Amino acid sequence: MAIKYEPVIGLEVHAQLQTKSKMFCSCAVVDSVSETPNNAVCPVCSGMPGTLPVVNQLAVEYGIRVALALECQVNPVSIFARKNYFYPDIPKGYQISQYEQPLAENGKLNIKIAEGQKTIRVRRVHLEEDTGKLTHLNGSSLIDLNRAGVPLLEIVSEPDMSSVEEARAYAEALRDILRYLEVNSGDMEKGVIRFEANISVRPEGTDVLNTRVEIKNLNSFRALERATAFEIQRQEKVLEAGGQVDQETLGWDEDNEKTYSQRSKEDAHDYRYFPDPDLPPLVVDKAWLERVTATLPELPRAKNQRFMEEYELTAYDAGVLTAEKAVAEYFEAALKKLPENISPKSLANWMTGDLFSLMNQADTTVADLKLSPEALAKLIGLVAKGEINQSTGKTVLVEMFSSGKSAAEIVEEGGLKQVSDEGFIADLVKQILGENPDAVESFKAGKETIINWLFGQVMKKAAGKANPNVVRAELDRQLKEA
Ligand SMILES: [Zn+2]
Repeated sequence: MAIKYEPVIGLEVHAQLQTKSKMFCSCAVVDSVSETPNNAVCPVCSGMPGTLPVVNQLAVEYGIRVALALECQVNPVSIFARKNYFYPDIPKGYQISQYEQPLAENGKLNIKIAEGQKTIRVRRVHLEEDTGKLTHLNGSSLIDLNRAGVPLLEIVSEPDMSSVEEARAYAEALRDILRYLEVNSGDMEKGVIRFEANISVRPEGTDVLNTRVEIKNLNSFRALERATAFEIQRQEKVLEAGGQVDQETLGWDEDNEKTYSQRSKEDAHDYRYFPDPDLPPLVVDKAWLERVTATLPELPRAKNQRFMEEYELTAYDAGVLTAEKAVAEYFEAALKKLPENISPKSLANWMTGDLFSLMNQADTTVADLKLSPEALAKLIGLVAKGEINQSTGKTVLVEMFSSGKSAAEIVEEGGLKQVSDEGFIADLVKQILGENPDAVESFKAGKETIINWLFGQVMKKAAGKANPNVVRAELDRQLKEA
C-alpha cells in the first residue's frame, strides 16, 4: 500500500522597510529599478574600515508595528549581531542581523483557507540590513550597492503550513498587513518582499520532522507556489524510492520550473554570529511601545469582519473591498456621501462590478482615479432618484471614469435624463405595437416571452432613456387590451 505524504512548510519572509534612509547610515533608500547603480552609497554601507553604524529609529518603529500586528511579544532588549560570510554583495564581509535576541517573538497570523481559517505561528521578527545586488552579464558580474544596508525585516513562521495553498495564503496575508501598516509598498516586482520556503514531507498523520530543504529567493507568489509544489513532489518521489532527502539550500529556476541545488545547508555556527561591538543593545521601553501601538491602523482582517457586520456585505464583497487600504477608504468615503435610503450593498455592487472592471481594463489603481468617492456617490444618487435609469448610469460611469466630469454634467450635456412621463411612454408603446402586429398576435396566442423583445424595441426607440418600470407597466396594460 502506498504511503500518503503531507508537506510541512515554514516560510521566512524578507520585507524591505520603506524608510527614507538606510538601516545604519544616512544614504537614501532608492528605487531599485530606476535609480543609477551605486548612487546611494557611503563609507558605512560600502564597508569602509573605521566607519560606525547608527540605528535608524524609524526602521525599528516599523519593525515594532509589524511585530504588534502579528501579536508578537516585543523584547525589551534585542541585540544586533554580525553574521559572517563572504559574498561579493556584502562589502563588510558580514551582515548585521539579529540572532539570539530578536526584536520580537511568538506571534501568530490567521489565514483564510478553504475549510475556514487556520492560525500560523510566527516564531520571530527581526531587523537586519539588505545586501547589494549582483547582475551577471556576458560572463561578468556587476555590483550595485544601492540596496546594501536597506532596512530589512525578517519574519519567520513555525512550520505550520501543510499545503501550497496555505503557504500562499500566509504570504498574501502578510503582504496585506505590511501594506496596511504602510511599512512596505508590496511591490513584488521590485523585490521589496522575498520568500524563503523550508519544506519537508512526512507520512500523513504523523508528527515526525524529516530533513528539510530551503528554497531561497522566491520573488513572487507564483514562484513561491510553483517551487513549493515542485519540491513537495520531488521529496515524495525520493522517499517513495526508499531514498533520503539531503539537507541543502536550493534555488528556483523559473524558466525550467524546477529547483536546483545551491549548496549543502550551512548551520548557524558556520556564520559565527557574535554581537556587533559597534552597536549597543536595542532597548524598546514601555513608553515607546505604547506610542507605536497608538499608531496602528485597523488591520485587514478586522476591517473585513467589520465590513461584513456593519455594512451587511457578503464575505466576497468585504474581501475585495478591504484587500487594499486605499480601496476600503474609497468605499467608506463614498458611503458617507450616499443618500440615506441607499444600502452599502448597492455601493459595493457599483464598485466591485462596474468600477473595478473599468480599473482593470485601464490597469489603474484607486489612487489614480479621476472619479472621487463623492462623485460616485452622486451618480448612484441620480440612479436611485430615477433621474437616470440603471443602464444609463453605467454609461455615465464610463464617461466619468475617463473624463473626470461629474454625473450631472454628463447627464445634462448628453440629454440622458430618464423619461418617466406616462403619456409619452404610452405613445411610444402604442407606436411599437402598431409596427409589430405579428408580435402582438403571438403574445395573444400565449407566447408571453415576446414581451421582452417588445420591451427592448420600446427602450431602443427611447434611446435607452425611458423609465423601464413605466415601460413594462404600459406594455402589460396595452397588450392586455389589444
Ligand atoms: Zn550609506
